[in-house]
Amino acid sequence: MKITIFGTGYVGLVTGACLAEVGHNVLCVDVDQGKVERLKQGIIPIYEPGLEPIVRENHASGRLAFTTDAAEGVAFGDIQFIAVGTPPDEDGSADLQYVRAVARSIGAHMTTSKVVVNKSTVPVGTGDQVRAEVQGQLDQRGLSLTFDVVSNPEFLKEGAAVNDFMKPDRIIVGTTDPHSERLMRELYAPFNRNHDRMLVMDLRSAELTKYAANAMLATKISFMNELANLAERLGADIEQVRIGIGSDPRIGYHFIYPGCGYGGSCFPKDVQALHRTAREVGYEATLLDAVEAVNNRQKSRLIDLIQRHYGGAAALAGKTFALWGLAFKPNTDDMRAAPSRVVMEALWAAGARVQAFDPEAMEETQRIYGQRDDLMLCGTRDAALKGADALIVCTEWKSFRAPDFALMAESLREKTIFDGRNVYDPQRLAEQGWRYYGIGRGLSV
Ligand code: NAD
Repeated sequence: MKITIFGTGYVGLVTGACLAEVGHNVLCVDVDQGKVERLKQGIIPIYEPGLEPIVRENHASGRLAFTTDAAEGVAFGDIQFIAVGTPPDEDGSADLQYVRAVARSIGAHMTTSKVVVNKSTVPVGTGDQVRAEVQGQLDQRGLSLTFDVVSNPEFLKEGAAVNDFMKPDRIIVGTTDPHSERLMRELYAPFNRNHDRMLVMDLRSAELTKYAANAMLATKISFMNELANLAERLGADIEQVRIGIGSDPRIGYHFIYPGCGYGGSCFPKDVQALHRTAREVGYEATLLDAVEAVNNRQKSRLIDLIQRHYGGAAALAGKTFALWGLAFKPNTDDMRAAPSRVVMEALWAAGARVQAFDPEAMEETQRIYGQRDDLMLCGTRDAALKGADALIVCTEWKSFRAPDFALMAESLREKTIFDGRNVYDPQRLAEQGWRYYGIGRGLSV
């Protein structure tokens, strides 16, 4: 099948590469000329395990091409995917300008019938707006062409995106049109062989399913963080509690890790956008409000612990902190809404310096913060420790899980760790003379 994808970010590029990998012919369109040029040369703009080889191989085989020319993109695919960003607007609602712009491009250039498939995460009702934008352009051109708008939200996780796309838990398709459903079944058949994972529903339900999934996951994290803060005050260890409740199959062990808050490009913005949508239809979504508030507070939790240890914000001036983990989670270079940013910015505001290391997000950190005297980006995990007053862990990369504590003690000025992901064993560290602060661990108080 011939597929066009607008947007070559985390979702668009993975979608394009995976569809090409199973044999479809894919043309990816992006407005970012530099990105398109790099992709043509086989340079992948993001870190995503397993993505680079499939982009390179499929590009070389001619099944995956890149362009900035929207007209060429519209002419190419029978299916036109929209996979552009939907960042938060000032009021928290999803900014749909990029989605609308693509819809207008499709309407402005199409000369045969198309199926427009929206993969971006968009508020309920956006499908109708996309339809209106395409139709508006067709009307202006005096053309009467048939087209359908389908919702096909994406559930891939950054860091495991290729695997998630190749082996999806479910493929949600929002359409009531039999022709579109047939086309989507044909498109996804290679990913759907083991058993039928396609769930076909009306467009609005499909749009809401994506927000519901992310809001549920964010709620689980905020719930655990709420309990962690309580555990700390009660002298309990949230890690024991986590294991205790996870054993109930109705609760389960997945996604109930407490920590220094969720970040990334999806949970914060999607919870906010759903909250905003609720308001627009006259419903006050109290739970969503709380999920967001708990998370915002949690991102400052490490700073609270650090200030408590040193005796207030003023005492941080002139201190140096080693910081392990800049990306919002392991296996990605994405730093959008990352808790590490809140921690670093608070330390800088208090006059402290940061020596940071992340296995993949160093370039992104450099791009965001540029050159500054109070930030040293270090080439290795161990280099970041040299001469620092204490270590802060913001992301649970595997390579941080079993460090040589004896060696670390030689590099740091003080044997102090602020562990935002509860990676280490407080008891063991206490026995070795460390001051250990985790999230919601009775032993830290
Ligand atoms: P991204 O910011 O990484 O990429 C978006 C791309 O769209 C950019 O390269 C940008 O240049 C391009 N673009 C903007 N306007 C364009 C236009 N008119 N024509 C062509 N390209 C254009 O975004 P992302 O992380 O891939 O997310 C895309 C959507 O998918 C969002 O709605 C997001 O919420 C959703 N989503 C993201 C993830 C994730 O893990 N990142 C997972 C599921 C769903």
